[in-house]
Amino acid sequence: MTFESLGLHTSVIKALTEAGYTKPTSVQEQAIPAAIEGRDLLVSSQTGSGKTAAFMLPALHKFASEQPAAPAPAVGKTPNQEMQASRSRGERPRFKPAQPKMLVLTPTRELALQVTTATDKYGSHMKRVKAISILGGMPYPKQMQLLAKNPEILVATPGRLIDHMESGKIDFSQLQILVLDEADRMLDMGFIDDIEKIVDATPESRQTMLFSATLDGVVGNMAKRITKNPMIIQIAGSATKHENIQQKVHFVDDLSHKNRLLDHLLRDVTMDQAVVFTATKRDADTIADRLNIAGFAAAALHGDMHQGARNRTLDSLRRGQVRVLVATDVAARGIDVPAITHVFNYDLPKFPEDYVHRIGRTGRAGRNGVAVSLVNHAEGVNVKRIERFTKQLIPVDVVEGFEPKRSASAPRSNHKPGGWKPGDNRGGAKPGGRTFSKPGAAPRKEGGGGGYKGNRSNDSGARRSFGDR
Ligand code: ADP
Ligand code: MG
Repeated sequence: MTFESLGLHTSVIKALTEAGYTKPTSVQEQAIPAAIEGRDLLVSSQTGSGKTAAFMLPALHKFASEQPAAPAPAVGKTPNQEMQASRSRGERPRFKPAQPKMLVLTPTRELALQVTTATDKYGSHMKRVKAISILGGMPYPKQMQLLAKNPEILVATPGRLIDHMESGKIDFSQLQILVLDEADRMLDMGFIDDIEKIVDATPESRQTMLFSATLDGVVGNMAKRITKNPMIIQIAGSATKHENIQQKVHFVDDLSHKNRLLDHLLRDVTMDQAVVFTATKRDADTIADRLNIAGFAAAALHGDMHQGARNRTLDSLRRGQVRVLVATDVAARGIDVPAITHVFNYDLPKFPEDYVHRIGRTGRAGRNGVAVSLVNHAEGVNVKRIERFTKQLIPVDVVEGFEPKRSASAPRSNHKPGGWKPGDNRGGAKPGGRTFSKPGAAPRKEGGGGGYKGNRSNDSGARRSFGDR
């Protein structure tokens, strides 16, 4: 199978050749022809399997194949000139609203920027197509300038997008394609109200495509409501073996044992770059500081940081200047840094699906990776919950000189992975502990609690999971 045989426009093929893509991945093989046909799609495919191109290439193909539209610059003057002119007339600045043809929604700002960069790459031989990111933490004047260019493609986090919709800067009447990347996350409690509002502002005639590594199983009412007769493409779901990612559990006695073991494991000579996931923003800072003192080029990434600092940190990681990223779940989904060879769960994630996304930061595009969870003895039950979700056992490993005092194998020996159901979350949650809790029971620490409704520019207080509104 080749990209040509999928029927893609020559300008798209040219860009793919330049990007070094020789053949489509499985998800691209299946999703691209269906998307070109105009079908709605629900697609689950493993982390790192090329889902971005699976939704972006057919869209670019469509735009490249369309007749050139009448040139529609939003304003005759540059946005700044217009703003100054209207100010001097004593008016509020006015813009003709942008009328995008495609909207991609993502749960985090970093992912939105990454999807925009990928779109620029895939569309590099198309003159008429422009993609921009709309996200919180970016100055409004800068975003108005971008919107004034009337881009065809918007990649956005929901909160800031709604701000622009409500102030009349965006008109979705011409929207043809809506994509929810990390769709299960976008449709859970933290984002659902926003998604509903955005979807209601788009035409019924749109094509809707939902993509995630964990979209199998329950497809909620909302997914049904926003798609029409969707084709379900399941390359693999939560039970994917992730055969290219070697998963391990190390039991630890206490924090000091955990820290010593992490330091040791980070000295693995096969390690290129690593992400260490923590439960709280504070721990991300503390551990990054500690690792820096210990001589690692480490940096923290979490939602309390300024967007500028977040961007600089991720850029340093991409350039290889940061070797160890210590992050909350804000980095769990979508981030594609091919040199990440190791993922460490310093704390286990609250929800089993987040485990799948976290370990998926390594082993990108068919590479190999290592995913290590550092687990207290009391957290064995949470490991089991993950195993039930992924339907596979995670082997316990012991490093010589770092053996836990208690043998960890005994309580696990009877365990067989079985079907995980949402109801399985009952029990095992300890108030205040680093354990799983019932979905929606309490604000996640990353969310910072109560800021959810009121403060869009902040990192999300999304109740169920992380993200930027
Ligand atoms: P996903 O969204 O499924 O996690 P991404 O879209 O982020 O995956 O892609 C993962 C990596 O694979 C990216 O670095 C991307 O450039 C690369 N990639 C995607 N499709 C191909 C392909 N057909 N051939 C080679 N590399 C690809
Ligand atoms: Mg992705």
